[in-house]
Amino acid sequence: MDNEGQIILVGAGPGDADLLTVRAVRALQAADVVVHDGLVSDDVLALANPHARLISVAKRRARHTLPQEEIGALLVREAQAGHKVVRLKGGDPFVFGRGGEEVEAAQAAGLSVEIVPGISSALGAAAAAQMPLTHRDHASTVSFVAGQCKGLSEQNWAGLAGKGRTLVIFMGVATSAAIADKLMDDGLSPDTPVAVIERATLPTMRVLRSLLADLPLLIEREGVKSPALIVVGDVARLGVDSEVLMETLSVETRA
Ligand code: SAH
Repeated sequence: MDNEGQIILVGAGPGDADLLTVRAVRALQAADVVVHDGLVSDDVLALANPHARLISVAKRRARHTLPQEEIGALLVREAQAGHKVVRLKGGDPFVFGRGGEEVEAAQAAGLSVEIVPGISSALGAAAAAQMPLTHRDHASTVSFVAGQCKGLSEQNWAGLAGKGRTLVIFMGVATSAAIADKLMDDGLSPDTPVAVIERATLPTMRVLRSLLADLPLLIEREGVKSPALIVVGDVARLGVDSEVLMETLSVETRA
């Protein structure tokens, strides 16, 4: 059983390579094969073993290169060939990362899997924007939802947003108009504060703020592109502005 391979699902964090865990870096350094998606930054990939084979399975919205079943099959095939396979995923593997499906694929093939958690972009974005997701004066609940097209209208978000609550929406840039309508239909006030945090933790990060009714216009006006998170609730008013952020980030980059 010596040459038995291994699959490790590794959270790559929100973008900034400094936000990888020590365990993630160790796994990358020991990898024979690194299978990564489009959200993983070059700085993170640069930490992989120089002899490792890097395979991209970029999965940006509407630009699927490899269907999920094929990614599972690829991981299994490489592990069965005796390789140490790191499946590197943006943020945390178990927060909208399809990590669960890859665990099932490995288990179905009789392979064991290890999971290395990562800093989800929701947490990275909150820290970088200095926008606490909970705050005793503003919010005592936080929910993470997916805003992509498929099934959006069937998803029940009732009660997840409103006074004293923070809603963090992943993958919501393309569907922001439907998202704003959905929340207002659920009874949320059109002047609920919202923030859009684009490319969180990266040097080109932006934090944009407005009110719920203006969300789709804000995204259009500012040309917001994925990856970005939408934060809905009173905490969206807190934190630093993009200009301040630019200064901090560039100081950090220079240091
Ligand atoms: N597993 C990831 C989420 C994958 S879903 C995590 O834990 O963060 C992909 C979505 O994550 C994107 O559409 C975007 O909404 C969000 N995202 C990932 N990285 C981001 C970043 N650096 N800044 C803002 N949003 C990000």
